[in-house]
Amino acid sequence: MSDTASIVTRFAPSPSGNLHVGGARTALFCWAFAKGRGGRFVLRIEDTDQKRSSDAASIGFAKDLHWLGIFWDEGPLWQGTGGGEHGPYFQSERLDIYNAQLQRLIDAGHAYYAFETAAELDAKRKAATAAGRAYRYDRAALQLDSAQVSANLASGMPAVIRLKCPGRDVTICDEVLGEATIPATEIDDFVIRKADGFPTYHFAVVVDDELMRITHVLRAQEHFTNTARHMLLQDALGFRRPVYAHLPIICNPDGSKMSKRDKDKALRKAVAERSLTSPPAATVDASVWNAWLADKNIQLDLDAAQRLADSIGVALPEINVDDFKRSGYLPEVIVNFLALNGWSPGNDIEKFDLEFLRTHFDPRRVVKTPAKFDRAKLLSFNCDAITSMPAEEFERRAAAHGSAYHPDFMARLGPSGFTMLARASQERSKTLDEMFRGNRFLLVADDELCWEMGKQVQKAMLDGSPCGADHLEALLPILEGHASWSAADLEALVKPFADERAAGQLGKVAQPLRVAVAGGTVSPPIFDTLAILGRESSLARIRRCVTHFKSLREANTR
Ligand code: GLU
Repeated sequence: MSDTASIVTRFAPSPSGNLHVGGARTALFCWAFAKGRGGRFVLRIEDTDQKRSSDAASIGFAKDLHWLGIFWDEGPLWQGTGGGEHGPYFQSERLDIYNAQLQRLIDAGHAYYAFETAAELDAKRKAATAAGRAYRYDRAALQLDSAQVSANLASGMPAVIRLKCPGRDVTICDEVLGEATIPATEIDDFVIRKADGFPTYHFAVVVDDELMRITHVLRAQEHFTNTARHMLLQDALGFRRPVYAHLPIICNPDGSKMSKRDKDKALRKAVAERSLTSPPAATVDASVWNAWLADKNIQLDLDAAQRLADSIGVALPEINVDDFKRSGYLPEVIVNFLALNGWSPGNDIEKFDLEFLRTHFDPRRVVKTPAKFDRAKLLSFNCDAITSMPAEEFERRAAAHGSAYHPDFMARLGPSGFTMLARASQERSKTLDEMFRGNRFLLVADDELCWEMGKQVQKAMLDGSPCGADHLEALLPILEGHASWSAADLEALVKPFADERAAGQLGKVAQPLRVAVAGGTVSPPIFDTLAILGRESSLARIRRCVTHFKSLREANTR
């Protein structure tokens, strides 16, 4: 690939659904390739499929790209980015441009109108299959004379426009995949404008790549064979040929596609494990639920899937950029990790930032084979980044995450409680979300906290003599007589108690305290936890806990 300042790349998502990690990596590589060579990066929204496209999806894509730190030089105007002299950047706003180019092709005899209905084409396809032939459009429309075509069009008969293919093999030269020849027999006169008046993907992409001066097309491997069609169109239109580089897909470790289906799969498994027969309140309509349970091919919409997952406490596999954001991954880690899916800078370098990627990205180091998405590695990258961040930064970023996804938490803790929780959590956090997801007990009303009765809790509370419940009962008046409630003060109070009553084994007292206030044996460090909860809440929980376990013990010994 030539290193010139006139390099222009584009990311051209179809705005249906959310930005998938695969799409994000394409955007990242397009951005890095252009920006690392003084070129321009264009964002173009390919919304010619009117049924599947939505403004909400376009906005979601823009937001996600900005979150990752990918800004476009040209494209839709969005928060100070975008604009440019080759717009509009939504294909749905470029119909006049496509129509002019279509007319050019028709006038030159390179394209023609065809009037077959979907049913007629289907019958031809079936006949070909029955006869053991591969289906190709039979060019029947070319038999119509121009008067007939004009009459059909004038009468409003639905029509598509097809490219008249030259019937020659097409050799694609790809920077990643090398050379491949697509035989003429595999390309029939494909549709370039649909009956609804919108261009097909093939046509719009070729026109826009030319008019937007795109020099390098980096896109997903699934488009590789489409490139032959694009090249035929470029030749018919007299356009330049961009350099092509098709990127390997990102898949699950078992080789399956990373798709929304994975979320439904995880939910179905959890629902079966919990033997749920009806949907938890306010998650999914009963009729949707029944249909979903009955047919494995039915998928819940993303919001419903998330509501159901939250309600039954399941972590869904992240697929889209927004999922990773919600799960508390850092954008710089996602960027770093995605870049390693299918590419590497060499020299065993694994940790880098956007700036490094910009200066080092080279498509010649992109691999041909699918990249396997290693979630454990991503999590460990995220953990490293979180634990090595300055405390103030962690607090600031965790607060932003909390405000976006856990406003109830932020309101309950207040600023000083939040600061304490952040300080107590950073060292153990793999994601920004963990300190919220793992500490739900902080939100529960004091008189509604339930105690899990697993082995650990049993051991902490009831084993030995004195047992944990006895220690709590003895400690309670000491705590009640103490006004100051900082972590340091509490430690100074409880340690001598443990020295005296539990032979210096702090755990014998700390663990029952943890169970009392958190409901189980997991919480941030205990003195921090007490301080975060505050004096009144902590004491109320300890009192209830003492009563609860004493009556449990009595019941057991009866
Ligand atoms: N709109 C296409 C997609 O979302 C991109 C096509 C291209 O990059 O040429 O898959």
